[in-house]
Amino acid sequence: MSEILLNYINGAWQRAEAPHQSVRNPATAAVLAEVPLTPAEIVAQAVESAHAAFLEWRHVPATERVQYLFRFKFLLEEALDDLARTITDECGKTYAESVGELRRGIENVETACGIPILMQGYNNEDIARGIDEHLIRQPLGVVAAITPFNFPAMIPLWFLPYAIATGNTFILKPSERVPITSAKLFALIDRLNLPKGVLQLVNGSKATVDALLDHPLVRAVSFVGSTPVAKYIYSRAAANGKRAQCQGGAKNPVVIMPDADMEMTTRIVADSAFGCAGQRCLASSVAITVGAARHTFTESIAEAALTRVVGYGLDEGVQMGAVISAESKARIETLIAKGASEGAQILVDGRGKTVRGYEAGYWVYPTVLSDVPPESQIAQTEIFGPVLSLMYARDLDEAIRLVNARSYGNMACIFTSSGAAARQFRVQANAGNIGINVGVAAPMAFYPFSGWNESFFGDLHGQGKHAVEFYTQTKVVVERWYSGWSRQF
Ligand code: NAD
Repeated sequence: MSEILLNYINGAWQRAEAPHQSVRNPATAAVLAEVPLTPAEIVAQAVESAHAAFLEWRHVPATERVQYLFRFKFLLEEALDDLARTITDECGKTYAESVGELRRGIENVETACGIPILMQGYNNEDIARGIDEHLIRQPLGVVAAITPFNFPAMIPLWFLPYAIATGNTFILKPSERVPITSAKLFALIDRLNLPKGVLQLVNGSKATVDALLDHPLVRAVSFVGSTPVAKYIYSRAAANGKRAQCQGGAKNPVVIMPDADMEMTTRIVADSAFGCAGQRCLASSVAITVGAARHTFTESIAEAALTRVVGYGLDEGVQMGAVISAESKARIETLIAKGASEGAQILVDGRGKTVRGYEAGYWVYPTVLSDVPPESQIAQTEIFGPVLSLMYARDLDEAIRLVNARSYGNMACIFTSSGAAARQFRVQANAGNIGINVGVAAPMAFYPFSGWNESFFGDLHGQGKHAVEFYTQTKVVVERWYSGWSRQF
């Protein structure tokens, strides 16, 4: 009998009287747990208790609020190994990748501990005779985050620490495909002795999300996931008068100049394209070689794809895990076939393979498509699997035109030893996160996660100072105090 997951509402674990859905280990297809698909009535209870908690929590001094985050960081560090194993089991990535995402998540908890200074406003004395003006930041109220399957710990932590440090109360709706990690995060949160209702966990899928989007007491929504859902959530939240920041999908291009260090470039691009089985919104998906780089890079990336060790992420020496589901495997394999039908050559074919001892798992091996026509659908569609498409340009101008000929704008990278080429790329590439000799340009917690175009809907991104602005509303006070001061001081 697999574990029945609970919601965490008003400081207590609750079993939902609702249909449940199975959570599976992608490497074995074994059922790990059953997750509730929480209906609107229970979401409303969570929102109402979060609102009641907000009325007190907003007045807890920021210096006291961050003490809970300091404790949370230490509990996360203690539980790191168990959390990493859980992420690998329900999400499919390797143990090292799971540890990596936890480190990036913890970094956000640490950054949010700086709220007493990050949340400061500003002021002017004597903007007119005897009149002063202040800007202060106040929390919004109840805020919610809806998160995707591919980073079960890191992405909730892009939002949760900033939301409560700034004085809001927060509801997490994690991906129903990886809810066990959130259950474990909330088991740690339960040990913090936070006031009831400050942090809540509500499991579910579309109906649960809609209930959050429609509840009048939810003031702001953070979303990370695919672009169609990001657009839907952005418009429904906005129609209901809420703030929204919605991070969507991606199709990230990397440009490889002939003067790049080819050994290093191949290693980094292979890690970017095939790491996390390509299920990263900052995965390289299209490699554009310039001039003579075509020959050397094609050979070396094919070799890297063929030699990557695929398997269960907790086994020694495994470099790439399974994709999230049977549907995902089928979708990726169909897209590879579509690429071939549009004129691409399948240089390395990762379809139809398995891993010995894990035959029921959802395996797609690294795949390289060469000669991908820039106008083809495969060149534009997010595959979200370990598939790298190769394209070619005569010079950097043509490569940048290819980079900019796509609707997404999450990341673009260049590999070169020329400062001038790097600078041109940095200025002209139409994407919000840029890598220079870097394959996964993931901003640190104290920088915004700066997606553009169809990769982001909103204006303030997650992380860093943007998070502080997103979770606070500014109040400007103009004040005059009558007094009969003498002017001698
Ligand atoms: P998804 O859009 O299917 O689901 C994300 C969340 O939305 C889940 O919590 C899910 O329950 C909910 N959801 C799904 N359909 C919904 C609907 N119709 N109405 C309301 N809620 C709905 O995404 P996923 O498959 O879990 O994650 C992969 C996607 O996330 C990829 O497109 C990837 O590029 C993107 N992603 C983007 C970033 C980024 O920072 N831009 C980071 C990670 C992942």
